[in-house]
Amino acid sequence: MHPLPPELFVPIADETMAREVFRRTVSEVQVEISSFCNRRCPYCPVSLVDRHSANHRIDDGTFERILADLAAIGYDRRVGLSLYNEPLGDPRLEERIVRARRDLPRALIYFYSNGDYLTAEMLTRLAAAGLDEITVSIHPAPGKPYADTAITRRAEQLARRLGSRYEAEIHVPDAFQAGRIPFPGIRVHVTALDYRKHGQDRGGLLPDLTPARPRRAPCSRPFTNFVVDNAGLVLPCCQIFSDHPEHAPYIVGRLEDFPSIFQAYCSAPLAAWRRDLFLPEPRRAPCATCTDGDREVPAEEAALRARFMAMLGLPGG
Ligand code: SF4
Ligand code: SF4
Repeated sequence: MHPLPPELFVPIADETMAREVFRRTVSEVQVEISSFCNRRCPYCPVSLVDRHSANHRIDDGTFERILADLAAIGYDRRVGLSLYNEPLGDPRLEERIVRARRDLPRALIYFYSNGDYLTAEMLTRLAAAGLDEITVSIHPAPGKPYADTAITRRAEQLARRLGSRYEAEIHVPDAFQAGRIPFPGIRVHVTALDYRKHGQDRGGLLPDLTPARPRRAPCSRPFTNFVVDNAGLVLPCCQIFSDHPEHAPYIVGRLEDFPSIFQAYCSAPLAAWRRDLFLPEPRRAPCATCTDGDREVPAEEAALRARFMAMLGLPGG
């Protein structure tokens, strides 16, 4: 457990202080630049809504504002352009990367993709635009189960399409594979997980994936991540899917209603999420069934967390 600014647990209206708390704590900013995905994987909440017939892009002003605020603190950590979208299906992707790279020369710009549209020419252009990393998540063909040989074959096919080779790194039979595809100027990771068995229930939206054992573990996501979706909505973490009405109560607010991304991050709702998620204890929805970062917390760490909360005079300490 790293030392945390106590200000993370209370709302902060002071811009300078909010900026400093964000700068010290956030290591990953996720901006969903578009809504479209060409797939409907049954273990993904995209399968529950229509994200196929139209592409809603994040408002230009919202995107520029996120970049301007991050530029103001010299942000040099991770910036992702994906959430529940397929970024390669957005014709403005390259332009977004150019803008992000211009404002954030030291940030690591990345996104996740299903790889269906990826070509060598496209990857060369994206690398030249300033993209640092792409992780291709290999999904089984529609209606097909996860199968090791089919996954490896798909990774090798993708590598050939990119004029390169697939270098396998991790293989857990019938569950997980990971590797890389060497390509000039950009890191290309490949992963595959049998999401039907090991996926997440996305805050209860996918009950087939709800685990038998409820969660007690704390969660670091609303501390380290700052997430904005294609509608400009600030979310507490990447597990929340604002397209689904069941998740409407978990939306933090519209980014445009906050004076800055820093004050959105230090707002009362996000401070409450952090207070709620700091101690190992039974969680309520949507965290009660979430397996993202779920783990056993050693007794010494639990005691340390309780002492920290008590020191701050916060409930549960
Ligand atoms: S898992 Fe990825 S590829 Fe599949 S529907 Fe969801 S966003 Fe699209
Ligand atoms: S426990 Fe899961 S749903 Fe809750 S904040 Fe963490 S990642 Fe999000």
